[in-house]
Amino acid sequence: MAKFKTLDTTTEKSEKKSQPEGEAEHVRCLIIGSGPAGYTAAIYAARANLKPVLYEGLQPGGQLTTTTDVENYPGYPDGIMGPQMMEEFKHQAGRFGTDIRFGYATSVDFSSSPHKVIIDEKKVIEADSVIIATGAEAKYLGLESEKKFMGSGVSACATCDGFFYKNQDVIVIGGGDTAAEEALYLSGLCSKVYLAVRKDYMRASKIMQERVMNTDNIEVLYGHQTKEIVGEQGVEGVILDNMGNEVKLDVKGFFVAIGHKPNSDIFRDYIDMDDVGYIKTKPDTAKTNVEGVFACGDVMDSVYRQAVTAAGTGCRAAIDAERYLGEKGL
Ligand code: NDP
Repeated sequence: MAKFKTLDTTTEKSEKKSQPEGEAEHVRCLIIGSGPAGYTAAIYAARANLKPVLYEGLQPGGQLTTTTDVENYPGYPDGIMGPQMMEEFKHQAGRFGTDIRFGYATSVDFSSSPHKVIIDEKKVIEADSVIIATGAEAKYLGLESEKKFMGSGVSACATCDGFFYKNQDVIVIGGGDTAAEEALYLSGLCSKVYLAVRKDYMRASKIMQERVMNTDNIEVLYGHQTKEIVGEQGVEGVILDNMGNEVKLDVKGFFVAIGHKPNSDIFRDYIDMDDVGYIKTKPDTAKTNVEGVFACGDVMDSVYRQAVTAAGTGCRAAIDAERYLGEKGL
């Protein structure tokens, strides 16, 4: 790894702009990612005077910018649009002095402190503490019609969007625990829930399968794969393939539950993670196995994956970073 010269982050912004590429910039607290976790970490870190620098990543605002109404985030009794909510998070982080930048972390070197993070393959940041808040992406089937109806019938989050399909028929795609959980959640709201499993068995745990089987308004369709989602303004139905036979169902909601992919690939050489790529944190903390590197939000949470839980772990990460910097005298 090349050695980089260090420029202190306390320099004025105009000086930073004229900084030659390849010359390292030193920051006390670097936040990678701009969903609820990243922005919450930024609010806390900025208020603790850590002078955080936050890189927004490829999808500024994160997954919530792809949803419509958010009705389950406390403090918004009338709901709020996902993109608007993330603008407000950003505004709040900026208000306390977070240096929010457009850029994407392309590689890291966590072998020594300060930790190095490369932005857009060229800019080098040397950070005393790093907060990883890069989130996760829901996997989708890849159909054109799926893209077309994103946010108007197609969803990857029953807890977020299920309410909009109250007393209507919906379909869930997938055969794992997430699909089972999504179907069970929707069964409490919707008239009928189809669960389309591509194989002739489910991968979900036995207990989840039993719950699904014991729920009257869930119908499991084994050996069914999605061919097309149909509709005009929104989803009106789905065409499935069952061993070469076409099956058409009238549904208003199409919930994809075929797994998530945490955005953690660039950290793989340094940070402990599970088989899927979720970052492991030490119990009841945001600490990773690397000193000075913290993780929050969906990149370390395969279970809850909610905006409010992501924000909570973002707060933890900033507090842990602040204490770490204090202990090290950085
Ligand atoms: P999984 O990888 O376990 O399951 C994905 C499911 O989607 C599989 O049934 C798979 O089918 C199916 N699938 C994948 N691609 C397609 C496709 N193109 N078309 C149709 N179906 C497809 O992901 P999960 O998100 O369900 O779970 C991830 C992890 O999180 C697991 O370890 C799970 O146990 C855990 N989890 C635990 C929960 C809990 O304990 N309450 C809740 C949710 C998740 P196939 O089987 O044919 O490959």
